Amino acid sequence: MKSIVRPVKKWGQNFLQDTSYAGRMIQTMEIQPDDCLLEIGPGEGALTQVLAASSASSIHIIEKDRRLIPWLQGRFGSDPRFHIHSQDILTTNFTDIVQNNQKLRVIGNLPYNITSPILFKLLDACHLIQDATVTIQKEVGERLASDPGCKAYGIPSIFFQIFAQVQSHFTIPPEAFFPIPKVESAVISIRFYDKPLAEIHDEAYFKKMVHTVFGQRRKMLRNTLKSFIPENMKPSDIPFDLQRRPETYTPVEMVALSNFLYQHDRQCFGQHS
Ligand code: SAM
Repeated sequence: MKSIVRPVKKWGQNFLQDTSYAGRMIQTMEIQPDDCLLEIGPGEGALTQVLAASSASSIHIIEKDRRLIPWLQGRFGSDPRFHIHSQDILTTNFTDIVQNNQKLRVIGNLPYNITSPILFKLLDACHLIQDATVTIQKEVGERLASDPGCKAYGIPSIFFQIFAQVQSHFTIPPEAFFPIPKVESAVISIRFYDKPLAEIHDEAYFKKMVHTVFGQRRKMLRNTLKSFIPENMKPSDIPFDLQRRPETYTPVEMVALSNFLYQHDRQCFGQHS
């Protein structure tokens, strides 16, 4: 199929050609009549045209490539449910889009080069988002959805699974896109909980601890956590099994460990505050 614009690599422009995947992706969302949808990077409209055929009450599309905006206006602009934003998703303020406190349902075949910043932006705004159904590089999807003990389990699994149920649905082969990317893709859904599975007492401390222990993921926690354990604390004072490796801790256990150490660190005027 001929492209409407010459695809640009720096914007991750691999346009979906096999639209049967768009239909499958939208089926997993079970769109309801009062849903407010937000599509990241509509491109040449492969997903957008399926969204247009749904019963959603409003559909926001955010595209950075200005060359595509007139075409998107012409194709979808006459539908009163559509709001076409010519802007960068990474600088978009979701509060400008949300109306009447109705949470957004996000969808997108994400540009590969900025997948992580987009996903972490969604995580930061999770109080405004019901769920996100996205096509991403298969390996990135595995890292988000993996369970403790699996090879792909790590920092993203922990951060996302505290706030959301992450589910992998199906894969999309490279040939379904033009230009053909080097990687296989997967469709995943991230359904944000109303309340996180565990309350993190200090996010900066938690992030630092998780990054530290996963920096040496094959080592036991008693070795990697040394700088987090107050000097006057004996191993027997710590109600966690530090013989285990971080990759065996569930996200909730990891939060509990961080809350415990943070509390004692502060009591000892700790090093990390
Ligand atoms: N949804 C279309 C499809 O499935 O064929 C296009 C997907 S393509 C992988 C990624 C799209 O995101 C492109 O249209 C690209 O221009 C757009 N894009 C890239 N960076 C963006 C950004 N920072 N903000 C909004 N859109 C962006």
